[in-house]
Amino acid sequence: MSDRRRELPSVDRLLREPEVAALLEAAPRAAVVAAVRESLAAARTRRAGPPEDWAADIGERLAERRRPTLRPVLNATGVVLHTNLGRAPLADAAVDAITAIARGYSNLEFDLDTGARGRRSDHCRELLCRVTGAEDALVVNNAAGALVLALNALAAGREVLISRGELIEIGGSFRIPDIMGRSGARLHEVGTTNRTHLDDYRRALDAETGGILTVHRSNFEQRGFVASAEPADLAALAQEAGVPYLYDVGSGLLADLSAWGLTSEPRVVDALAAGAGLVVFSGDKLLGGPQAGCLVGPRELVARCRENPFARAVRADKLTLAGLAATLALYDDPAAAISSIPVLRMLTIDAAELARRAERLAARCPAELEPRTEPGESAVGGGSFPGALLPTTLVSLAPGALGADGLALRLRLGEPSVVTRVAGGRVVLDPRTLPDHAEDEIAAALAQALQA
Ligand SMILES: *Cc1c(COP(=O)(O)O)cnc(C)c1O
Repeated sequence: MSDRRRELPSVDRLLREPEVAALLEAAPRAAVVAAVRESLAAARTRRAGPPEDWAADIGERLAERRRPTLRPVLNATGVVLHTNLGRAPLADAAVDAITAIARGYSNLEFDLDTGARGRRSDHCRELLCRVTGAEDALVVNNAAGALVLALNALAAGREVLISRGELIEIGGSFRIPDIMGRSGARLHEVGTTNRTHLDDYRRALDAETGGILTVHRSNFEQRGFVASAEPADLAALAQEAGVPYLYDVGSGLLADLSAWGLTSEPRVVDALAAGAGLVVFSGDKLLGGPQAGCLVGPRELVARCRENPFARAVRADKLTLAGLAATLALYDDPAAAISSIPVLRMLTIDAAELARRAERLAARCPAELEPRTEPGESAVGGGSFPGALLPTTLVSLAPGALGADGLALRLRLGEPSVVTRVAGGRVVLDPRTLPDHAEDEIAAALAQALQA
């Protein structure tokens, strides 16, 4: 061991240094002591030995230890529904509702009229029925949970018919065949990967059949020699056979985005209008609310889900219900929904506005990054509108000696954290998913990244 390392100060001596002692005013003693020990341990193993400035090193380690692991990021990728970045940002009304409920007690399961026990499942029920036209509704923790619940409640121990073209994977851990296996329902595959006809379902129907399921291919497209049965025909076939027809539409699109050319996602209302029994969808995709799984449909089918013991295992919490209800209420005015629900607003920003934002942002970026604007495309993401690419204007930056990956890394680790795209050796920012007027924050993050 070198002399310099043997001469390391003790924990107590460091804690008595005025600048280290000052840290105790803003942080608990245990946290400061832990940072001191960490700093000493690093000095012991580091070839360069002790830091030049103990207090600064300890202060940085303390700040890093106290930084939450879950933190806000600025999404400059242009991917509107980025599952890894938490999917839908919430509307102000939803955030306010969540805050109001989070701070205190609420009537979550309490009937204020009678003073007796109430039902958690009543909270979003009327709103969901109103916006979808369904007879009854239930909210659970997420759509994967909703699907397992529905299959278990309606078809456990029996076979559920599904097209071979719909045995899909959504994100690493959600695969339709695996989910169905766990639900207690047995998978009965019909048709082929590219083509499944109504007759394939009809021929597979027998005494074992407990339901028919359609799963929307939400994160990929099939083109070429393809065919699938229409939901309306499957609904009629299921009715004929006396079994429920389940339709997992995935993204929970309630708004009509056809004016923006976004027509390839099934809307919840259309699925119900086609005669689907139970429709399953997510709360935090195109609906634009918090993570949730919604089940809507006829009273009898929803009641069977509500009363199933598994419903308790996947129940929604009060913050979800508060945020979802406030989001759903915005749909009473369709135009207001599009302007106040962030996901819908970001999908429908017009090209000229994006170009203006890109110009504003480029003008604020450090000159050494040689900022320039260029036409590009944003993706919807999150298993919605897989083929759709929305025209945007990008800001692209020359990363210099750091390299594009190096600059992108520094931006991710900065405060605030900025997540970008890297393309053609440049760091690329898409204003579509950035908060309006985020230019100053981004400019500061870039300046910080260049210094670090
Ligand atoms: C996203 C998706 C799911 C899973 O939804 P979560 O809310 O993430 O559980 C299920 N089915 C389809 C078709 C989807 O697109």
